[in-house]
Amino acid sequence: MDSFVPVPSREKTGARTPMRCPVCDTELRGVAIRDIGGITADLAWEVHAGECSEHGWFQAEVISQPPREIFPVTRPFGVARRMVVDGDELFAFSTVWNDVPASVKLSRVNPLDPRYWRVRGQVRQSI
Ligand SMILES: [Zn+2]
Repeated sequence: MDSFVPVPSREKTGARTPMRCPVCDTELRGVAIRDIGGITADLAWEVHAGECSEHGWFQAEVISQPPREIFPVTRPFGVARRMVVDGDELFAFSTVWNDVPASVKLSRVNPLDPRYWRVRGQVRQSI
C-alpha cells in the first residue's frame, strides 16, 4: 500500500476529438482529453470530453480501441447524467464500434478513426 504513488493525470485542452454530439451530430466544443496513461507503452488510454451547446457534455473512453459508448455527463470528467431523447431515457449512446466484425476488432485500427465513433442511431438516420 505505502509504495503506491498515484500518477497525476495529464489533460490536454484545446484538443481535437472524433467525438461529435450523439444527438445532433455537431462538432463539440471545449474539448478536453485526459491521458490516463499506458500501463504498457502501446496501450493508449484516454478520456475525451466535449460540449454541445444544445445537449451538454459528453465523454468517451479510448482504451486502444474506439469507444463502445458515449456517455452524457454533467461536466468534463464528471458523473453520468440521464438524458431523454425522443421520449426515451438513456444513459449512454452505443457506437457503431459494437457492430464491426471481430476480424476488424482484432486488427489494430486507429482508435481515433471517426467512422467508429458514430452512434448507431445517427447511422440509421443517414441511410
Ligand atoms: Zn447536440
